[in-house]
Amino acid sequence: MPEHVVIIGSGPAGWSAAIYAARANLNPLLFEGTPKPEMIPLGQLAFTTEVENYAGFPAGNIRAFVESAVAKDRHYNLPPAPKGHEKDGQPHYAVQGVELMELMKQQALNFGTRVVGDDIVSVDFSGKPLKVQPASGDAVEAHTVIIATGARANYLGLESEERFKNLGVSACAVCDGALPRFRNKPLIVVGGGDSAVEEATYLAKYAETVYLVHRRDELRASKIMAQRAIENPKIDILWNSEIDEVLGDEEQGVTSVRLKSTVDDAKKEVAAAGMFLAIGHTPNTDFLKGQLHMNDKGYIQWTTAFRTYTSVEGVFAAGDVADDYYRQAITSSGTGCMAALDAERYLADKGL
Ligand SMILES: Cc1cc2nc3c(=O)[nH]c(=O)nc-3n(C[C@H](O)[C@H](O)[C@H](O)COP(=O)(O)OP(=O)(O)OC[C@H]3O[C@@H](n4cnc5c(N)ncnc54)[C@H](O)[C@@H]3O)c2cc1C
Repeated sequence: MPEHVVIIGSGPAGWSAAIYAARANLNPLLFEGTPKPEMIPLGQLAFTTEVENYAGFPAGNIRAFVESAVAKDRHYNLPPAPKGHEKDGQPHYAVQGVELMELMKQQALNFGTRVVGDDIVSVDFSGKPLKVQPASGDAVEAHTVIIATGARANYLGLESEERFKNLGVSACAVCDGALPRFRNKPLIVVGGGDSAVEEATYLAKYAETVYLVHRRDELRASKIMAQRAIENPKIDILWNSEIDEVLGDEEQGVTSVRLKSTVDDAKKEVAAAGMFLAIGHTPNTDFLKGQLHMNDKGYIQWTTAFRTYTSVEGVFAAGDVADDYYRQAITSSGTGCMAALDAERYLADKGL
């Protein structure tokens, strides 16, 4: 018998879809993927520390709640509660990425979601039932499939960049820009397209100065966006430059970056408390090639406004894999919920 709902992906979109599908008695089967350097089960949020903007999670004694809600055999996965965040003698901090994701997973498990710790490596959407192929074992047949495999931020690949992730290196200005470590400090944004200009403009609200580091002598961004950056008195564009190394220490995090020229051998150091990458994202859609309509960047295309429909009936897409614009945990959860409701209505319409 084909599954009613197979969910591929284990970020906010996947777990939210699972919670809705499980509560609708659809007995979802979720493939959560295997750990890799650039993506891990529990999704992108599991790479970050405090999450201050997920509604419903104000700072507080989060750890006590997390430990009471998450099954004991998953406590090993929880990061240490951050030190030095106390109020009235109690821990007081914003929920950490892994804690929030463990809570989502637990909520999905509580309603009966079945979870498989494997990757889906290919799909066959040419007929019905739909087929998904895990890395190990037989293909799984399903009436509906929800794709929630996310997108990964592109990094430069420097060893020093890796060392300072969560210590000043970030790939999301909206997520991290308001953190105290970045306020009224000089910051670096790397990139030259529209999203780099958007990130720089956003960060300029908080930062002392934003240095936009770009490899060429003109921005790739649209004319109007480029003009906005050039005219912003808090944005200083460092042309013909790329990052040679991120500098700092364990205690302070990032303190500066060393730049090298793309036109000669010159190098220089620029003081900065943070470096934000804005050099694009890569959607996790390789395993879907030729099976669904995607845009030129490889993101799945929704075919109808305010629906999670894809080009194949019965296949729905949720979260960052279909969204190269908002890219937030809460929007991913929102479209995960929509995908489960769309799947439920599709099954009802088909009498399945
Ligand atoms: C460092 C960092 C900090 C961030 N901070 C915030 C923040 O403060 N607030 C906020 O709202 N957002 C933040 N974001 C963005 C947020 O994490 C993403 O928008 C959100 O996680 C996207 O959710 P998703 O469910 O679409 O996919 P993802 O979170 O990307 O999860 C998808 C997961 O699916 C699994 N998967 C992928 N391919 C397969 C496959 N073929 N088979 C099986 N499983 C697969 C992988 O394990 C992958 O991790 C941050 C992102 C980063 C990188």
